Amino acid sequence: MDDGNKSGLFYPNRFINQTLRAYASILGENGLSSVLNMAGLSSLIENPLPDNLDKQFDFTDFASIQVSLDDVFGVRGAKGISQRAGETTLNLGLDQTGSLVGVKHAEFQRLPWETRLLVGLSSMASMLTHLTDQVITVSQSPDSILLSIKQCPVCWDRRNLEKPACSFFNGQLQALSTWFSGGQEFHITESKCIGMGDEACEFIIPKTPIR
Ligand SMILES: [Zn+2]
Repeated sequence: MDDGNKSGLFYPNRFINQTLRAYASILGENGLSSVLNMAGLSSLIENPLPDNLDKQFDFTDFASIQVSLDDVFGVRGAKGISQRAGETTLNLGLDQTGSLVGVKHAEFQRLPWETRLLVGLSSMASMLTHLTDQVITVSQSPDSILLSIKQCPVCWDRRNLEKPACSFFNGQLQALSTWFSGGQEFHITESKCIGMGDEACEFIIPKTPIR
């Protein structure tokens, strides 16, 4: 690979394998292959990444997948697909993820759901900041939790986007919030996006569920 134009920031191999499996479950293997070909990542079709947490997949390549999805399905279509892929990624790896962030402990399960949501999202943010080259922080206001991503692989190097583009993470946050809260659903919005010129990609998770 020519590293000259790459970000030099990385995502771990296993997370990318889970991401590709999630997209394949939505697009089919052939659909995914077309998208990877367009993204200049055809080597991934025949040669999956090793199943480990080594940080080896460049943010630039992650963003290329999103750009190809936009090209094939249109911005709106790609947004829906990536949202579902994000949710699926978590559902495929929830057991593993739970162990990584320590939310399977009995003490965690005994906390009230509002606390589980905040603690769970904060633990996940620390875990991802540690295992990836993202920098994720969590804060809260009286009625919502705010999750902020600096160095975002989904919109890496994208500029002048009209709408927030990181629905992949929105999908992951939907799945996580439902999981941490014991089955409740929240209307999560991406309020800022680096691809639109903002300093961070920001997601608002309201503390009041829609159901
Ligand atoms: Zn982003």
